[in-house]
Amino acid sequence: MKLREALKLKKDEIIALREDILNRAKSSNINAYIGFESMGEGIPILLKDNIQVKNWSVTCASNILQGYISPYNATVVEKMLSNGLSPLGRANMDEFAMGSTTESSFYGATLNPHDNSRVPGGSSGGSAAAVAEGSAIAALGSDTGGSIRQPAAYCGVVGFKPTYGKVSRYGLAAYASSLDQIGPITQDVEDAAILYDIIAGFDIKDSTSANIEHTPIALNLDENKKYTIALIDNYIEEASSDVQAAYAKAVEVLKANGHKVIHKNLSNTKYDIATYYIIATAEAATNLARYDGIRYGNRAKDVKNIHELYFKTRSEGFGDEVKRRILLGNFVLSSGYYDAYYLKAQKVRHLIRDEFNKVFEEADMILSPIAPTVAPKLGSNEDPLQMYKSDMYTIAINLIGLPAISLPIMKNSDGLPVGLQLISKAFNEQPLFDTALSLEKSLNFNN
Ligand code: GLN
Repeated sequence: MKLREALKLKKDEIIALREDILNRAKSSNINAYIGFESMGEGIPILLKDNIQVKNWSVTCASNILQGYISPYNATVVEKMLSNGLSPLGRANMDEFAMGSTTESSFYGATLNPHDNSRVPGGSSGGSAAAVAEGSAIAALGSDTGGSIRQPAAYCGVVGFKPTYGKVSRYGLAAYASSLDQIGPITQDVEDAAILYDIIAGFDIKDSTSANIEHTPIALNLDENKKYTIALIDNYIEEASSDVQAAYAKAVEVLKANGHKVIHKNLSNTKYDIATYYIIATAEAATNLARYDGIRYGNRAKDVKNIHELYFKTRSEGFGDEVKRRILLGNFVLSSGYYDAYYLKAQKVRHLIRDEFNKVFEEADMILSPIAPTVAPKLGSNEDPLQMYKSDMYTIAINLIGLPAISLPIMKNSDGLPVGLQLISKAFNEQPLFDTALSLEKSLNFNN
């Protein structure tokens, strides 16, 4: 059932729907759910395990947060509750949202519902996999460098990363505060717009929230509304043949639907990965300093002094990927290297933004791959650098704070979904939904 259909149900039908979703979640074998917590009696929405729900265990899929019970609701949860939706279940994720495969979860990997030997993507892999297999109507994820869009693409569903500041981060466990953004993962474009409209808007509790009124996304497609779409020619060169085929198909459909296509290059993209992994790890090292065994969750036992308490708690509580990032982040922030790495990365961030803005002087949006390949096999991302490189198409969007929607385009010869993203200027989201909806209608991915 689609979210928009569920919104028309009567109270007893919603109770039956919650029951049905819970049964599906419990009988699923892809490890998308890591908890079956439930709150309220509204339409069930699955939440990534880094979004606070009062009285729920919220763990960011980490050992260090075992035993932590959230004392409050995230703003997105409050907004859901006042619009007839309510949280059901905690979705698996990479530990503290650090990763691209959901394999770094304390609870073990989620499996891709299209092929159980493959990853669902990450870090919101549980959210995307559950929506794809039908054990969730819709879900929320968070996107710091692609974590909504990329799992959506690997699982054949729709994911939307809003403009930075459009959705409150209050109650989202911080990974990298200048990049994080909550957004919907849904069965289709219309549901993404509906869920986005519910969670968007200014929030006094989030100091980076944009103080502007949210204009709801209009879903009555204007067939005559034509856009100019930029293709970034140097982007596509590094994509696999499956991704190139989906790209060619999308371009063909966009042209047939009367949109104008122009060709551009973005030369600063070669700095995206280095810039992102400096800024994201610097912010992560700072944000994760709070997990010290005193204020939250798990505390190491049998310690002799405070130094040992910190040391043992953090050594036992964090997994390898999180530790790697804390080390890297503290290194780039250390006094000897701050100028050389962190400060330089912030400058490059501006260059990347300026180059995108130039493209937006001529184009309404950009069409881009999401990942260089379809969902990889479980266990194939053992080299962290290799995994970081697979983020090449998504991370610049977070560095600049732009909105982007990821939607399925086609399946490859093995039946694996290939998704692409549309990216637009900040606070200019309607054109993305218009175009995504027209692509979705023409492509008919699910039939
Ligand atoms: N894969 C990226 C990372 O590991 C993005 C993760 C995310 O968006 N949360 O940082």
